[in-house]
Amino acid sequence: MKGFKLIDKETLKETDIASEKNEDLETNVKVKITKCLITLNDVLRYSGEIDCENVVLGSFGVGIVSESFNNLFGIEKGNRVYIEPYNNCNECYNCKNGETSKCSNVLTAGEDYNGFLSDFVSVNASKVFLLPDPVSEKDALFIGQIANAISIIDKLGVQKGDYVAIIGNDNLAVITALLLIFYQSVPILIGTDDEMINIAKESGVYYTLNSEDNWQKEVSVITGGRMAKNVVYIADSDIPATKAFAVASYNASVAFTGNSTKASAISFALAVKKQLEIHCINGSFGNTATSINILANKAIDLSKLKVDTVSYEAVPKTFKALNDKIKNEQPIHETIVELF
Ligand SMILES: [Zn+2]
Repeated sequence: MKGFKLIDKETLKETDIASEKNEDLETNVKVKITKCLITLNDVLRYSGEIDCENVVLGSFGVGIVSESFNNLFGIEKGNRVYIEPYNNCNECYNCKNGETSKCSNVLTAGEDYNGFLSDFVSVNASKVFLLPDPVSEKDALFIGQIANAISIIDKLGVQKGDYVAIIGNDNLAVITALLLIFYQSVPILIGTDDEMINIAKESGVYYTLNSEDNWQKEVSVITGGRMAKNVVYIADSDIPATKAFAVASYNASVAFTGNSTKASAISFALAVKKQLEIHCINGSFGNTATSINILANKAIDLSKLKVDTVSYEAVPKTFKALNDKIKNEQPIHETIVELF
């Protein structure tokens, strides 16, 4: 097994990782990785902005089972699978009391342990999910983002017919809007990246506002003066949070979320004035089976999402290029690495 490991700031090295694996063959499944997703988090780990271990990068991965001891849980050689990229810590108070789903120190692939930028991975069978035929490998790489969007909608308690303003410039913003439409509420997608706003429109989001619109005024018009009872603020967007507070109604619920855990400075003055309820959501952990079911039922159309595709060999120069873009304050999007 070989993979691209982060050995130092801005330095990737293709490394043999077979020898360092603590494999428990009785409970592990070996998966040949076919596609891996590079996300903003990966690039921020590469640049040193997010602390991480010296591990193989790659936030999300799909592949084909190549070995399964005793066909664990019915997982057989040749199955197409998605690998859930999280582990509970088994050390915190909640984990030790059997509530692993409330782990306060969730471990993440590509940050705390090896991610998916490698030809094979050996993972615990409980982390492996079968992909039904209708689910494409490309869509499956967004299962973590769909799971996060489900958590946002659950946490806000969005009801049928509710207006939900989404402030964001990335694929997560579009996925959240599409899921809200599926749940019969009314998303208003707001962003400064006009290309992403067009992607949202083409994907079926009716209310969109771009960099040229007066957001507060337009949201007032759309909602008949009520403003948005629910607001999703995607912190990666680099749009000031005050903009999210401005489109919220009095006492509205605001969800802070994002794909990355990068640092940001926020003024809460307007949130206090409007007595907003703030929720912080990092909900990719869990909801995996529900997300796969949503894709299997073709409930949302991800075909227009903005993604680039590169080969495994191009990984080092891809990271360098993405990092340069961030340094120049240009937006980046997810990149799919084709391994086979
Ligand atoms: Zn824990």
